[in-house]
Amino acid sequence: MKSSRIKGFYKLKRGERLDALREFADIPSDQLRVFSQDSALTFETTDLFVENAVGSYPLPLGVATSFKINGEDYLIPMAVEESSVIAASSNAARIVYEAGGFQAKCLSSLMIGQIQLLDLPLEKWKECVDKITANKQFLIETANAVHPRLLMRGGGVQDIEVHTNDNSEKPFLVVHVLIDTRDAMGANIINTVCERLAPHLQEISGARIGLKILSNLADRKLFQATCRIDPKFLMSSDLVGAIAPEEIAQRVWEAFVFADNDPYRAATHNKGIMNGVDPVVIVTGNDWRAIEAGAHAFAAKTGRYRSLSKWQVDSKGFLVGELTIPLQLGTVGGVTRLHPSARIALQILGNPTAEELGKIIACSGLAANLAALRALCTTGIQKGHMRLHAKNIAFAAGAQGAEVEIIADLLIQRKQINASEAEMALREYRERERQKREPYLSHTNPS
Ligand code: NAD
Repeated sequence: MKSSRIKGFYKLKRGERLDALREFADIPSDQLRVFSQDSALTFETTDLFVENAVGSYPLPLGVATSFKINGEDYLIPMAVEESSVIAASSNAARIVYEAGGFQAKCLSSLMIGQIQLLDLPLEKWKECVDKITANKQFLIETANAVHPRLLMRGGGVQDIEVHTNDNSEKPFLVVHVLIDTRDAMGANIINTVCERLAPHLQEISGARIGLKILSNLADRKLFQATCRIDPKFLMSSDLVGAIAPEEIAQRVWEAFVFADNDPYRAATHNKGIMNGVDPVVIVTGNDWRAIEAGAHAFAAKTGRYRSLSKWQVDSKGFLVGELTIPLQLGTVGGVTRLHPSARIALQILGNPTAEELGKIIACSGLAANLAALRALCTTGIQKGHMRLHAKNIAFAAGAQGAEVEIIADLLIQRKQINASEAEMALREYRERERQKREPYLSHTNPS
């Protein structure tokens, strides 16, 4: 019987952990070795980052080209397993580049910490809110004493709000602590501040303190990317004669209306935006679960899950895109400076501040969104995808080196992009190549 109760797994050495895994999953050690190949991340570092480490999990890393943001050129590193994401983002970025580039700004840069207040009778709520408001300055100063260096860096707690919730089965109040965490994502900073403020809030309010933690709905940490595109730049050679440029702009707007009014479509539309966001978040060592949670919660903030982006055609017929997204990012803290690949990725981006990184990532999200919408309303999404998908299928069937492109082309010509066709095409191709190399064999031995 297999048991997952492995006592003291964390105390084992790396080899012993792999042995335990091998035994549990019945995987030969030579296959398990892929886990233990050190790449940019040595085991020593991995072991520091996570508990029970056995190795690391590499993701493909590429670079998206042609980004111009606020007049500056960027190459954007992306770590992502999905084919066509980087190509599509680069393609959309090129279109926007020709149209003058992206504009990006930070709309507000405060993170939110929450402290829940419980067990206070409803009739005492107003008094509680008044007391907390009256002590606001004391609370802010107390909170800022926790991280004096943050204050020196121009950050710190800027405001304290009290919200009420009497709609649930257990009514509660919640104090929001609004903190500028500068270049740190801030989760640990905020959690410490909330824990330090809790006893003071208990004393002031007389309530029982519940949870004390940051909110990942970072709607006070908003970034906005925009672009304005002359429709002529939306054309490509394969679309000439098939569709007019103005029609593409119009259809992108229609696609936005679809997403903004239909949550089934909005989820996929926003996933397309996150195609441009997550790979940069990951490669810079940031917390993509926080970003994902924040983005989708923000998309549903009006009570309906909607598009994170907006597209319209302006009076001059130009296509105007705008993405507003919460991005709780850091360029210090977490593993941003500890992960060797993240360090280099940040260097490629020009060692940005967290605010600059937010602007870059918002533009990357808008580019991915434009690429998806333009493809969907013209040639369809599968055309570009299928070329890359065909290459993956060819590779999985055993094609190597130049064979990958050749077999992928064959699959596309035959309109049969699947594993058995790839295996057959590869066999046939190798046989043809063998015959070219050894023509006499094919005459003497036709089998
Ligand atoms: P952190 O704990 O590493 O703190 C950042 C440190 O950087 C602070 O000590 C600060 O003093 C220092 N610093 C140096 N230069 C700075 C500058 N210019 N601006 C700001 N700070 C500067 O990191 P963090 O950002 O507090 O927390 C991020 C980590 O918390 C991530 O690993 C995240 O995954 C994790 N986390 C997330 C959640 C969540 O999202 N719900 C919850 C808990 C933890």
